[in-house]
Amino acid sequence: MHVLLTNDDGIQAPGLWALYEAFRRGFTVTVIAPDRERSAVGHAITLHQPLRSQTQDFGQGRRGIALNGTPADCVKLGLAEILERPPDLVVSGINPGANVGVNLNYSGTVAAAKEAALCGLPAIAVSMNGQNGLLYPEGARFALGLACRVLERGLPRGTFLNLNLPNRPLGEVAGVRVSRQGYLAAADRYERRLDPRNRPYYWSGLDLQRCDGHPEVDGTALHENFITITPVKCDMTDYDFLEALKQWDWQPAADRDQPGIPASGPPSDVAPSRPASGNG
Ligand code: MN
Repeated sequence: MHVLLTNDDGIQAPGLWALYEAFRRGFTVTVIAPDRERSAVGHAITLHQPLRSQTQDFGQGRRGIALNGTPADCVKLGLAEILERPPDLVVSGINPGANVGVNLNYSGTVAAAKEAALCGLPAIAVSMNGQNGLLYPEGARFALGLACRVLERGLPRGTFLNLNLPNRPLGEVAGVRVSRQGYLAAADRYERRLDPRNRPYYWSGLDLQRCDGHPEVDGTALHENFITITPVKCDMTDYDFLEALKQWDWQPAADRDQPGIPASGPPSDVAPSRPASGNG
């Protein structure tokens, strides 16, 4: 079995090499990772500059390919050019810091797994809660077990797993909770400062994760010391709303240039968006 490892923290990151150590015992492992930290680049790809790859040797048999691109680039170029055959599995991480809730939209760790799923490969994004003193080998050990289960049972095409681990020894976690993504927007915090010319500039602060408290929501379960596993789909279509949207009046009226743009401005009774179905 052949696994492709990548991340968004750069090829030097300890979380990546913890996965490497865990997987190298039973798998053929290829590492293709960004040459520097690319956290929070989301699913960006590089279009306007050349991509260059370089094999790097980190000693103790640790070799990997560093790419001057994003996590999604690593998967795309890896599959298209670098690897002779597609891997059986793509694993991205281990990211220091949870990737739950709305952070799935910004995470390069998650995007790499999503890119693999778009290419029809089973994939797992792995993140660990916290920033310092992370127990990466524990996380890698669990990721390896999950990977074996995924290879055994398969995943639906276009679906990948988002795994988040508490920073605890596996024997001390509350358990595993199959969870769903929360989507309460983070409480953004920007620090406003003044430059020497008295012009304001802003630093993005740490976004505080908000959870709605439902035990099945990823952030809540992680906070309760559970390992969380969320199945995530590449297809972002809202099938619940699709049929209702079809029922809107899509016939261009004679007095309208475009469907949906009333001649006299928007109606005053615009319905509020569909209530959330309990996610948070
Ligand atoms: Mn990261």
